[in-house]
This record gives sequence, C-alpha cells and structure tokens, in this order.
Amino acid sequence: MKIIDLRSDTVTHPTKEMRETAMNAQVGDDVFGDDPTVNELETYAAKLSGKESALFVTSGTQGNLISVLCHTTHGDEVLLEADSHIYHYEVGGISAIAGAIPKLIKTVNGEITPEHVKNVLRGENIHFPKTTLLCLENTHNRHGGTAISPESTNKVAKYAKEQGLKVHLDGARIFNACIYHNTDLKEYTKNVDTIQFCLSKGLSAPIGSIIASDKETIDRARKFRKMLGGGMRQVGIIAAPGLVALKTMRDRLIEDHKNAQRIATILKEKGFEVIKPQTNIVVVSIINKFENPMKAVDYFEKAGILCVPFGSDKIRFTTHRMIAEEDVTEFERRLSSLH
Ligand SMILES: *Cc1c(COP(=O)(O)O)cnc(C)c1O
Repeated sequence: MKIIDLRSDTVTHPTKEMRETAMNAQVGDDVFGDDPTVNELETYAAKLSGKESALFVTSGTQGNLISVLCHTTHGDEVLLEADSHIYHYEVGGISAIAGAIPKLIKTVNGEITPEHVKNVLRGENIHFPKTTLLCLENTHNRHGGTAISPESTNKVAKYAKEQGLKVHLDGARIFNACIYHNTDLKEYTKNVDTIQFCLSKGLSAPIGSIIASDKETIDRARKFRKMLGGGMRQVGIIAAPGLVALKTMRDRLIEDHKNAQRIATILKEKGFEVIKPQTNIVVVSIINKFENPMKAVDYFEKAGILCVPFGSDKIRFTTHRMIAEEDVTEFERRLSSLH
C-alpha cells in the first residue's frame, strides 16, 4: 500500500533538477565568502524580498533565532502570537540563547493587530523589561495555515515601529500567503526589519532557509550564524537546489492549496469538524471522535495515511508537491473503507 504522507510539506524530496544542479554546482568555502552558488542564492533571495541583503541559514529555526539575536539583548521582551512557531516549536531558543522573555498575544486567527500591540506595551518603568521586538508569523501554522494579508502586516509593522520596536516576520511559508493573496513577497517585507522563509517546505529544497534584511543586519546575522555553528563550507551543494526551489517552485503551491481544499471537503463529508483551509494546512478537530490525537493518527495510519497530532484535540494534514490529485482521490477511497 502506498503511504499517503500528509505529515508536513517538509517531507518533500528534492526534484531531479535539484539533484543535478547540486552535483554540478560551483563551490567554494563560504566562511571565506568564496562560494559563488550561495552568493547567487543570497543575491537572488535579497532581490526577491526587496531587501539589501540575504543570508542562507541551516533551518527556519536558526533563521528565527538569529533574527531575534540581531534585534534584542539579554533580558529584552519579545512580543509573539500565543500559538507562534517560535514560542511552541523552537525549543525555547529565544530564551535559552537570546535571553529574551516572551510576551504572548492571543489572537483569533494568528493575526496581530495594532490594538493587540498597544494593549501589551506597558511604557517605561524601573520594574519592566525593555520591549524591543514584535514577531509575526505568516502563514500561521498553528492557526491552520492562515494567510494574513499584506495590508494587515504593513499596518501592524508600521505601528510597532512607531512604538520603537523592531519587527521580524517568520515567513516559513510566506509564499503560500503570497499565492492566497495573489501578491508579491515585497508587499510583505516593506515594513518588517527581517524576514525568514523556508526553502525546504513547500518549495521542496532539501535544506535551508533565508533571512533577508538591510546589509548591516545581515552582516551581524552572519556572525551570529557562525556563533551558532552554522558557518558552512562548500555550501553550493545545498544552495543550488535552494535556487531551483526559489525560482521554480513558488507558483505550483497553488496545487497544494487546491488539494488541501479537497481533503478538507472529504474529511467534512466523513463527519469531521474541519477548519476551512486557506493554504496547504488542514486542521481537524477530533473532539467527539477520538479520546486523544494519537488515537486519531493511528486510525488514519491503518489506511496508510499519515498526519500529525496538533495540540490536545486536533490533528493536522499538510499537502505538498509529492501529493498529486490522484493521491487525494486515493485518500478519499481509503477513507470510505475506514470505520
Ligand atoms: C517549519 C517552521 C519553522 C521552522 O523551520 P525549520 O526549518 O523546521 O526549523 C518556523 N516557523 C514556522 C511557522 C514553521 O512552520
């Protein structure tokens, strides 16, 4: 039985073109700045982001941590959405390594507004930590891949900057948001200081993320990357597939969104309570169906369908390049045989 792997878009393998380009990539020692392929990737990524400079980093987690390190000093307070990836899934790095204290903002769909920021800013007082950074996330993973609009992003980022904060956008899946809002990446980056986006999720590269910002910040980010052990050598081998990902894989994300819609419909017809997907993430409530998320995961696994537990009462299905339309049809067929 073919496994239908909907655990994450990170399970995507590199394409043939990516493997070939990796094999033939020109390389050099990137710590010396000698790798032409990673230099090309960083230049391309900076231009795409509408920023002066960009840096290739090992992962989204490293990209977020480096960005927080660039914008804060030990003891600073960082504003984060309560369900943010940085808070939930990055091993507490911003506290353990950057020494930042998180202030969580609860929202309905992952969208932080100027009012939210206004309500948590507490002014100057000898007792308080200094609040220096607002982190946004788009698409918002734990809110079900919600795509926040450029207008909303620009509004809250502008407000935060007026209040003297820096703004970081965790845009691990920002290209999914670009597809949903039919917009260009630059529309999201105008008012944020740094953006991090993943090459290794829907874009299907094997490894890596990008941080984009002004030149001075990227110079500092490069040093923090070295500090964290992320200064790599013949990086062209992994940067080359990253370039293919960035150049050729953005537009096809729309297929993933269509498949996610179909999966949501199929699950709904099967009696599940489904959050209507905007992008490639389908979040399903297991309440009144299973005792806990692991039981639900096991239920689907019996039919060769893989998903992940998501919080205490939900599971998550994620579509990606290796799930074709026929696989969704097969998904439907297998579900009809499950009881
Ligand atoms: C996946 C993800 C990250 C982290 O990326 P890794 O490459 O897995 O470290 C950060 N933020 C969000 C929203 C993500 O979905």
